[in-house]
Amino acid sequence: MVIKLDGLYLSTKIKNQLCMNIANTRNKKEFFLVPNLTAVLIGDDPASLIYIKQKQKACTEVGINFTLERLPSDIAQSDLISRIHFINNDSSVHGCIIQLPIPNHLDKNIILSQVSINKDVDCFHSENIGNLLLNRPTFLPATPYGIKLLLEDYNIPTKGKHCVIIGKSLIVGQPLANLMSLESGMAATVTICDRFTENLSDHTKRADILIVAAGKHHLINDINMIKSNVVIIDVGIHRIEDSTAKNGYRLEGDVNYDLLKDHCSFITPVPGGVGPMTVVALLLNTWTAYMNQLN
Ligand code: NAD
Repeated sequence: MVIKLDGLYLSTKIKNQLCMNIANTRNKKEFFLVPNLTAVLIGDDPASLIYIKQKQKACTEVGINFTLERLPSDIAQSDLISRIHFINNDSSVHGCIIQLPIPNHLDKNIILSQVSINKDVDCFHSENIGNLLLNRPTFLPATPYGIKLLLEDYNIPTKGKHCVIIGKSLIVGQPLANLMSLESGMAATVTICDRFTENLSDHTKRADILIVAAGKHHLINDINMIKSNVVIIDVGIHRIEDSTAKNGYRLEGDVNYDLLKDHCSFITPVPGGVGPMTVVALLLNTWTAYMNQLN
């Protein structure tokens, strides 16, 4: 029987625990400072605004102050860097994220590595990415971290299992492959595919754990692409027009959930799987940053 990996349930459980931890810690006199996450949003991309609102709501739920720093889409790179350095030097801010995507005239790699490594709760700074490879991370990138928490909570073994990841982005696929393959950690045998991979099905049907982060609606859409009792983690999020839905659309993933669910041992739904776990992972990183900066 298939088990739904319920990210909504688990993220709520973690948020409740975190909320108690934050309240208990702050009750101690010396921890009077409220944890603060500052998000820098450049321009007014509507999808980014939705993601920012989700993060703000989650922060409020657990007792983290959320500050939104909105900057114009034509901001000069030097002005943006000055602003990030100002945030780095503000001791009331514990975590800082630069909401992606950023406008094309800005060099993403340069910008992301301006955030102080102690406040880099998205784990995008090159030094924090390097520390992940060395298995001494301060933070874990939010989506891979959320997936790790889900697998652990459902006691899904990873050691020696064949994990196939589709997608090589720097925010999901690449760091996830590193995290899953660490021999002293999750110790999975990892295959990582991208849009150039030939005969994708040859790889996907050998997976014990299949993680799909390609950003292609229903890329996994055939039972012959998977082996029976596979664990499927679907990272993709797509808005599908639906006149019967309240907002005029529904959300679906990179995996055809309804078609494949009965052939899996575990599967994440979309929505309610990886999405809420990504947000909660950001909160956990902010909490880590806060504790590290106070200690
Ligand atoms: P991206 O666009 O940066 O990278 C996509 C990767 O998938 C690339 O490596 C590309 O080569 C590969 N790919 C594309 N088509 C493919 C195909 N047909 N076969 C094999 N590989 C293919 O993507 P991203 O930023 O990692 O996002 C991926 C998806 O995950 C998007 O739908 C995004 O909205 C979603 N996402 C969700 C969360 C969450 O919290 N649930 C977080 C981040 C991203």
